[in-house]
Amino acid sequence: MDGQVSPKSEIADPAARIASLLAAQKAAWAKDVTPDHATRDDRLARLDRMIEAWQERFAAAISEDFGNRPAVVTTLTDIVPVRAAIRHARKHLKRWMRSRSVSLAWTGKPASAVILRQPLGVVGIVAPWNYPLNLMLSPLTGVLAAGNRAILKPSELTPAFSDVLAKAVAETFAEDEVAVVTGGPEVATAFTSAPFDHLIFTGSTAVGRKVAEAAAKNLTPVTLELGGKSPAILDPSVQFDKAVPRLVWGKLLNSGQTCVAPDYALVPRERVQDFLAAVKAEVNRQYPGLPGNADYTTIISPRHYARLTRLVEEAREKGAEVIELAGPHDGERRVFSPVAVIGAPDESAVMQEEIFGPILPIVAYDTLDEAIGYINHRDRPLALYWFGEDKASQERVLTGTIAGGVTVNDTILHLAQDDLPFGGVGASGYGAYHGEAGFVALSKEKPVLRQSAISGVKFLYPPYGRMAQWM
Ligand code: NAD
Repeated sequence: MDGQVSPKSEIADPAARIASLLAAQKAAWAKDVTPDHATRDDRLARLDRMIEAWQERFAAAISEDFGNRPAVVTTLTDIVPVRAAIRHARKHLKRWMRSRSVSLAWTGKPASAVILRQPLGVVGIVAPWNYPLNLMLSPLTGVLAAGNRAILKPSELTPAFSDVLAKAVAETFAEDEVAVVTGGPEVATAFTSAPFDHLIFTGSTAVGRKVAEAAAKNLTPVTLELGGKSPAILDPSVQFDKAVPRLVWGKLLNSGQTCVAPDYALVPRERVQDFLAAVKAEVNRQYPGLPGNADYTTIISPRHYARLTRLVEEAREKGAEVIELAGPHDGERRVFSPVAVIGAPDESAVMQEEIFGPILPIVAYDTLDEAIGYINHRDRPLALYWFGEDKASQERVLTGTIAGGVTVNDTILHLAQDDLPFGGVGASGYGAYHGEAGFVALSKEKPVLRQSAISGVKFLYPPYGRMAQWM
């Protein structure tokens, strides 16, 4: 460990504490600008041991924050993917850190050139509440692998988790290596206004805009991992028995509180009723006995629960057909049972806002061009899903639309692969992380040209008298 700075209790003002931590981390960075492989590997190993040692406490705290979130969901979506990312980083770290030699044009010879990969310095990470461990510690993995230091700001909607995280990090890292700052939007605003060397923000598009604005004042580069409405296209060639279980799993994981959840389904008009029946059967297969099913995550807060209720009511008022797919809702315990909505008008909130809950709008289409056009006339989505058997149609959708990432014939899974860069496009964000893409995004690729003993560029020196004759 690199040493301790002032204990947290000494500084009550969050902005002052952020400034003090940042100064301490920058000072520590200056003493070891490019940490060697052993230092980085040790930090990653400590992070991995920390997650292993604290995993039950993390799962219990996250469940407390949600009301009910099964420990198995936290294990599968928060713990396992981050530990896999750490293993992946440790395995490839030496190769990622190597400098790359570059061959020069004849005008540059006989000099030589390399690209050095160096840390950026101190990175601030702001995370949302929906996968609070994954979306904090997965970016941190890339940050540490690339040799940076980090200050973490978890969501105020996961106070129990934030508390455990702060304790675990304080036990594992020196404050000038990794530190945690907790608090709500005021703290978050002070945090993203601080002159970090890089910020990674995961959250809503609306807040992402504010973060980009605050960071611009310091010229701090930002990776923005935002949300949006991710479509699932059911091709006419789709086989519902294969597609629907995968779609329902992705939609209802964490009760739809997933950034890459399929938001709505585009379905061939003549198959809408068959699709609905298949979805309903599958929902009840995966989550029998709702609202009393312990595998089903509750909605994070009364405010979020009320918003989902409003989305459905407004769609109904605007003429949409609302179909309850499973048991009744339990507002007191915030169990929002799955609902399908057919024929919601475009201007309804359920078709305008990211749903972030277990509501599935079904949009009927007549031709594939119409489905592609529907997607292309909206904000660019974070994820896109295509289900079907027809390869030519799949190709048309892949080349005819733009999205942050795609899974074909399943949902969510592209996010779980460390060699696939993960990030949005347009309103769903910019920049990417995971694996080597994250390592590069969190490094400065510094070009270095080493001149040879014999300079090949003497002709650049004045006087230019004779050169002028050749031009
Ligand atoms: P949010 O934008 O409300 O909050 C995210 C974080 O931003 C929190 O830590 C919060 O304290 C902080 N924050 C709030 N106001 C701020 C401000 N003015 N300046 C700086 N920071 C501020 O998002 P949320 O409700 O926690 O999460 C849900 C959203 O996140 C959804 O839109 C979802 O799609 C998106 N999301 C994206 C990804 C991804 O990887 N792209 C992953 C998960 C969630």
